[in-house]
Formats: sequence, C-alpha cells, structure tokens
Amino acid sequence: MAAKFIRFGNMMPTEEQKERPYLIDRDPFHIAGNLYYVGNLWCASHLIDTGEGLLLLDVPAASGYPGLLINIQKLGFNVCDLKWIVCSHAHTDHYGCIRALVARTGAKTYMGRVDTEDMLNNPERTKRLDAGLGPYNEPFTPDVMLEDGDVVTFGNVTMKCVLTPGHTIGVMSHFWDMDVDGQTLRVGIYGGSGYGSLSTEGLKKFGQPLSMQRVFVESIEKVWDEKVDIMLGNHPFHSDEYYKNQKRQQGCEGNPFIDPTEWHRYLTELRTGFEEFLTYTPEQAGEMFAETHLMEYYKDLV
Ligand SMILES: [Zn+2]
Repeated sequence: MAAKFIRFGNMMPTEEQKERPYLIDRDPFHIAGNLYYVGNLWCASHLIDTGEGLLLLDVPAASGYPGLLINIQKLGFNVCDLKWIVCSHAHTDHYGCIRALVARTGAKTYMGRVDTEDMLNNPERTKRLDAGLGPYNEPFTPDVMLEDGDVVTFGNVTMKCVLTPGHTIGVMSHFWDMDVDGQTLRVGIYGGSGYGSLSTEGLKKFGQPLSMQRVFVESIEKVWDEKVDIMLGNHPFHSDEYYKNQKRQQGCEGNPFIDPTEWHRYLTELRTGFEEFLTYTPEQAGEMFAETHLMEYYKDLV
C-alpha cells in the first residue's frame, strides 16, 4: 500500500538526520536556463539568477541554513546578492531560514496573505508543527503578502502566483517563463502536495475545517490547464530532482528536467494518492506513515 505513493508518505528526516542536519546536504545543481537547485534532500530551495539579483523560491528549515549558504557559494554565486525570497506556504521546512537570511542580506520577502494571517493568528499550532525540527524556526511577516493571481516581476522573471489551498489554507503555486537556449519554456511548481494531515482525524487535531479535503482536489483542477515544460516541487522528491540530476550526470540524452508530460502525470498521481488516502482507516494511515521514509525514496541515489 505504502510504496505506491511513497513521495506523499512520511518524508521527514530520520532522528539522526535531525540531530546532524548536514547528513541530508548534497551538492547543488543546474536545472536549466537561469534556474538552480540549492536545497537539500528534504527541503527544496530553488535559486534564480534574475540578472538584477538572486531570487530564492522557498528556503530549507533553519537546520539547513549552513548547507544552503554553501550550495549558493558552490555554484559561484554570492549570497549577498540575494534580493528576493518567495515562500510557497507557512511551514517551517519552507520558511525556516528566512529571518536569518533577511538579517544578513536584507532580502525582500513574499508569501500569500491567507497563509501569513493563518500562521500569525495561530502561534500555538505553529509551535507544535515546528517542534523537534531544530533551532530558530521563527515565523516571519513577509514584506509583501501575495493575493491569488498576483503577477510579480523580479529582474527578468515575471511570476504568476496562484492560490492552491489544501495542504495549508493559503499555499500558493508559481509559474513563469524562462529562456533556455533561445527557447521560451514555462516553469511550474505546485504548492503544497503533502496530504498526510488531511485525514478527518488530522484536520480535527490541527483545528482545520473538513472542507479542506474537497478544496485539495479543487486546487489540482484549478491549475490543471497550466502549460508546464519544467515541473519543480517544493520538496525535491515531488519532482524527482536529484534523480533527474543523476540521470544527466550519467550522460542521458537531452535535459531530463524538461518534460511537458510531467505536470499532468504528477497531478494525476497526487489526486489518485489522495483519494485512496481518504479511504484509509486511521490504522491504515498510521501504517502508511510507519512504512515510508525519506531514505527509502532515495535508495537508488548514488
Ligand atoms: Zn508544508
């Protein structure tokens, strides 16, 4: 049961990896055009060289801060050139480093208004979600609170921000055009894909409305018609980024990150997995989480 949808299972780092966060650090890599991966095995962080400064799309939990800085440096960039940070949603594995980065670089921060207000109005829940995930995972107040459909320009990047609630009530997805060797390709990143907390019991536990189960599917339908040539995840295991990079290092033909069929394949997998998850008893859901873990997904990574 679990293996089929492993990427949507319990993908938290192991206890040892939480104690020694550098164990999930890996080298950064180029994706295409001006787009790079600088996150770790658990938390995605994408860097775009906009020509007028660096943009980060999500940052790791605070425990991943040193690894993030080293990865930016390894690509030959200077973290002092960081100008903007866009955060997909109000979970610490996407915003944990933000206040530390802002303190040293003055980068301007962006997150959806719905999630920002929900996070700041529920400090106790935020604390519970952050428990055990390392030091200073501080909530933050973004400089810009994004609304559904906002279009924001950062240097040579013009990004469309779409509200796709479900994983949180205000998670956003992002889309933009990118020049790759003279060709215009569209990059898309689906916001929150994890549905582990959306069981009826889970929603009750975290004080969320039951309607989130319906909203989760409506959000998938909302962005279905987006044309996406390069799909990213806000966790690297959603879009198999390390495996694509491995393929390229092993000398495959073409760029494995460019795959216009992946968007619909992924959204279908997400919806199917979620609908199956809703049929589980609490025991079966518990079993699914006990059976899946981060390193099982990465077992074929060299
Ligand atoms: Zn999340």
